[in-house]
Amino acid sequence: MSDKNIYKGLNTICTHVGQVKDEQFGGSVSPIYPGTSYEYIDKDIDRYPRYSSTPNQEFLAKKVAALEETEDAIILGSGMAAISTSLMAFLNSGDHIVLQNDIYGGTRNLVEAQFQRYGIQYSFTDGLDAKSFEKEIKANTKAIYIETPSNPLLKLVDIKQIADLSRSNGLISFIDNTFATPLIQKPHKLGIDIILHSATKYFGGHSDICAGAVASTAEHREIIWNLSKNLGGSLSDYTAWLLERSMKTLSVRFFAQQKNAGELSKYLSECKFIDKIYYPGLETHPNHDIARKQMTGYGAVISFELNKSIEQKSFLTSLNMINPSMSFAGVESTMLSPAETSHYLLTPEERIVQGITDNLIRFSVGIEDVPDIQNDIEQAFNKCK
Ligand SMILES: *Cc1c(COP(=O)(O)O)cnc(C)c1O
Repeated sequence: MSDKNIYKGLNTICTHVGQVKDEQFGGSVSPIYPGTSYEYIDKDIDRYPRYSSTPNQEFLAKKVAALEETEDAIILGSGMAAISTSLMAFLNSGDHIVLQNDIYGGTRNLVEAQFQRYGIQYSFTDGLDAKSFEKEIKANTKAIYIETPSNPLLKLVDIKQIADLSRSNGLISFIDNTFATPLIQKPHKLGIDIILHSATKYFGGHSDICAGAVASTAEHREIIWNLSKNLGGSLSDYTAWLLERSMKTLSVRFFAQQKNAGELSKYLSECKFIDKIYYPGLETHPNHDIARKQMTGYGAVISFELNKSIEQKSFLTSLNMINPSMSFAGVESTMLSPAETSHYLLTPEERIVQGITDNLIRFSVGIEDVPDIQNDIEQAFNKCK
């Protein structure tokens, strides 16, 4: 594998970019280099796991950069390691950041629990349009942070508008691109500076890896890398190897999941036990026009609100194949109640304001066959109606 990415197709990038060539035996998969000690004399790179510069770490980052169409990337130990390291690398005491209101709970918690200790000020927007962001910008604002589609209601932010706003105010822009993946959304091309990923989700895709990634220009990557060496949130080479292996099938997995989600969104929107459905691919979705503009697909997560006649817990426990479990994006379909998991710490009133009712279900669509998924949902409805 040369350093330059010569492949254009997403499937080809997933399969071939970022492989560590087995020079010794010509094997077709990357060897694992678990070493913590490498020669240094006359070498142009210091290889060390905490520096994210071992062969497996270095080459996996190339795959992420190729997908996001950025100059460079860095792989870290979790999505939160990627997010916290990146934010802290750019924010200094006295700086201010504007963040989208609906962001991943862990990110929100990082901001609310830690930023004050470091003298970093922050504001959450009250809406998702560019005006809501613009009105929070102050003299000391340094950065803007978005996450689109958002969890669990899959609300969308116009990425280009926020990127333009950020540029015109001299800010640095961040996006959490975990839900969409670079397969259907390329924020860097729309002008966003730093792209964050929980690789625990679709990149890993088998519910067995915890990892994170950041994609950006080489210059920004250097700033993040400098802090990451000090914070130490690197990813082990064994996991980097497994993640590289897993990402070979990222595109086939994700597109199969997305196709299923498209079909199931139609079935669910006609289902009499469901009152409301949230999927950016549906024309009824309030941000469908933004989705069409900035995404080449609509993703594989659907949220829906059960009819009052169905109790969410009995629905979830009536499912046979679909596992009611935390997290998402694995090849297997899963469902959860946001009110009882990700948004449990909010008061019931706060949840209502955010549109997260007790009967809301978040559905991570897997790669199973649609008729089997549909049958499982139907039999669960019949059991608890
Ligand atoms: C899971 C998730 C994270 C955090 O990732 P970890 O790998 O659990 O640290 C961040 N953002 C989004 C959107 C997520 O879904």
